[in-house]
Amino acid sequence: MSESKDLIYAGKAKDVYETEKQNEVIVTFRDDITAGDGEKKDNLKGKGHCNSLISSKLFEVLEENNVKTQYIQLIETGSMLSKKLEMIPLEVIARNIATGSLLKRFPFEENQKLDPPIIQMDYKNDEYHDPMLNDEITIALGIATQEELDEIRNITLKINKILSEFLKEKGILLVDFKLEFGKDEEGNIVLGDEISPDTCRYWDIETLETLDKDSFRQGQDNVMDIYDQVCSMIVDEKDIERWEIQ
Ligand code: 5GP
Repeated sequence: MSESKDLIYAGKAKDVYETEKQNEVIVTFRDDITAGDGEKKDNLKGKGHCNSLISSKLFEVLEENNVKTQYIQLIETGSMLSKKLEMIPLEVIARNIATGSLLKRFPFEENQKLDPPIIQMDYKNDEYHDPMLNDEITIALGIATQEELDEIRNITLKINKILSEFLKEKGILLVDFKLEFGKDEEGNIVLGDEISPDTCRYWDIETLETLDKDSFRQGQDNVMDIYDQVCSMIVDEKDIERWEIQ
């Protein structure tokens, strides 16, 4: 990776490197996989490659629909050239179907359709185990203003519509997902991070089988096969040719 310089951030499954340009970074997707606040860990060969392709494709679909993302270009397998953002410490979760932690906390019926979708915001903070926020707490902590929260909610609802439709065409039901936003140099709210099977629940539209990280959370032994399968459902051969990656 000749363009890269110093590591500026190491997350649980991605690293961020400086580039020659002050307002651009390289995000690299590692093969590490974690669950349960990082308690369950493994390394799955090829996962970083797979997630970089899926994220690049979904960011491109969003850009085509006028959603601002940090994505600039997939420069090589596993590495995405991205706009540098000042990240907002929120995990913005959109839910179309009640499952996962929502069922542990509230009396929803399992697999209940949520229409309109639920938007939930958690504080991205390992020390406090990502607690759920409300607007007052978020504003009082200085994380975002009311106007910014309203904008983040509207963008998330728009993203949910675009991705639900796109993935439906590919045979995937978008159950729920987590987004992270940041601000660019001009202070615009921009979608950052990734959109991959690590951060979303994808179900096979026919069989409702899990096509995401729940397979790892549940201890299945075919996790990488599932990631490869979902990657080939979302990313076309012509995308790979167009990106000119190895
Ligand atoms: P739940 O709250 O049901 O565990 O997760 C809801 C959705 O948000 C799922 O698609 C899950 O993958 C995603 N999500 C929630 N918190 C995190 C997190 O800390 N890391 C990642 N990668 N995804 C998360």
